[in-house]
Amino acid sequence: MSWKIKQKLRELLAAETNLCGNHHHNHGGSLSICLIYPNQYHTAMSSLGFQTVYRILVESQEIHCERAFLPDREDAEEYRRSGISLLSLESQRPISDFDVIAFSTSFEPDYLAIPKILQMSRIPLTSSERNQSHPLVIAGGAAFFINPEPVAEYIDAICIGEGEEILPALLSALTSPCDGGRSGLFSLLATLPGIYIPALSNQNSAPVQRVSTSGNNSIPATSVILTENTEFGDMYLVEISRGCPRGCRFCTSGFIYSPFRYQPLKKLITCIDEGLRHRNKIGLVGAAVSDHPNFEELCSYIVEKGGKVSVSSLRIDRITPPLLTSLKASGHKTIALAPEGGSQRMRDMMRKNLTESQILETSELIIRHDILNMRLYFIIGLPGETMNDLQELVRLVKAVRERVLEQARANGRLGEIILSINPFIPKPFTPFQWHGMEPMGSLEKKVKFLESSFRSLSNVRLKMESLRDCYLQALLSRGNRLLTPVLTAMAAGMNLKKSAKLCGIDTDALVTRTIPLDEALPWDYISSGDCTVLKGQYQQAFDGEKRP
Ligand code: SF4
Repeated sequence: MSWKIKQKLRELLAAETNLCGNHHHNHGGSLSICLIYPNQYHTAMSSLGFQTVYRILVESQEIHCERAFLPDREDAEEYRRSGISLLSLESQRPISDFDVIAFSTSFEPDYLAIPKILQMSRIPLTSSERNQSHPLVIAGGAAFFINPEPVAEYIDAICIGEGEEILPALLSALTSPCDGGRSGLFSLLATLPGIYIPALSNQNSAPVQRVSTSGNNSIPATSVILTENTEFGDMYLVEISRGCPRGCRFCTSGFIYSPFRYQPLKKLITCIDEGLRHRNKIGLVGAAVSDHPNFEELCSYIVEKGGKVSVSSLRIDRITPPLLTSLKASGHKTIALAPEGGSQRMRDMMRKNLTESQILETSELIIRHDILNMRLYFIIGLPGETMNDLQELVRLVKAVRERVLEQARANGRLGEIILSINPFIPKPFTPFQWHGMEPMGSLEKKVKFLESSFRSLSNVRLKMESLRDCYLQALLSRGNRLLTPVLTAMAAGMNLKKSAKLCGIDTDALVTRTIPLDEALPWDYISSGDCTVLKGQYQQAFDGEKRP
């Protein structure tokens, strides 16, 4: 046994404040579940989704719950050297000793860690190789309910929808006696709302309906474990809304978390008061926080109570002077805005509903409030994009910069404009799901054009997302079960190109092909609203344009 690994796990645990009242008494449950985030501890513990599932499991009297994570490179080497299998955080016992292991993540790139973790835990990789002596492997989180197919063969049962709604029935089934061994259990679980059993699915299976929490009756998701050893370690996180009412055509938030729901002010104030007892900074979480009807009020409340507010990105048309006053008082030195499209044509195509004058006026308002830095998010390679659209993007950024410089001359201080450029990635359950990602060669040329256009502008900095990482993300978003052997080879250390070649998979075809509207999609077995709405939106995007 590696003393070094156990010691590190104990130190991580000792540095945590656990706000779940009964976590110390959580050792008598009849069913042991190891909740695993398929990424490192530092990333995992900033995930409100992961923390919420942990809270639900710990609060269940029948469950004994612990956590585990992907080890960092140094620890992975130590595991390999000492020959021990992956250990849980709380009691440092092997993952394979648990009755159930449950993966939770919202991000497709984390799929790569699933076969690695199973290998490190000495658990057979695929559902078909496992038997009654192995833990049941379940999974949930947004990535899994968008398209779990690339990893479906590793998993026994997948939650299609929001955990708060699915878990009670699932946990009740798992803690009740069940006849018929694994196949009996699979058949039972397949009858529950939102449960997908990959081993039982075939072309004739009825679609699995995605499950959402109903109305505003849910408890707001908040931090339940605080630690400095995570990305948002200085904050207490509160989810104020779920989904987005805007429905931009490339973005999953408006479609997979439908309808848009927000928590009532009164409940949020209670959460904020609790949060301020533990942290000075409150992180307000949601895809569209600024669309919460009481958003301005919430921010002022936190500041009046002597706290600080943290938000990721704000809708340009929801930024107001009182909001900026609260953000300035919270020490915000940078405001992130997401025009996404550089030209009006592209913004209309993606249904962003933003005009150039709104972008310019908001930029000026921000600088006037003495918040000097701006981060602007843009997407390149959108359906139908031409070089004219990129030239428009450059012109827009220069116009924003002019406003910034004017204001800087007035107040004598100059900030920075950071341009975050991401390529378009087609995502399931969006109107653009059928459209292929632009080929890498063409995206590389566009990136070079942008780099040369902004090189000479002193206070403009370009931050490009790695095109290779985005390609992989698109592959995992759009992929099917043929990818499983590719991911297994990658878990063994092979790179994507070699693994795909070895497995005879044309990854370009999965990533860049525009799929005909009448072709079956790998994620068609998930039922989520009306597909004709998505098709209509896709067609409308090209109204007046020649369909590519
Ligand atoms: S891009 Fe932003 S505004 Fe548009 S749907 Fe997604 S979260 Fe909402």
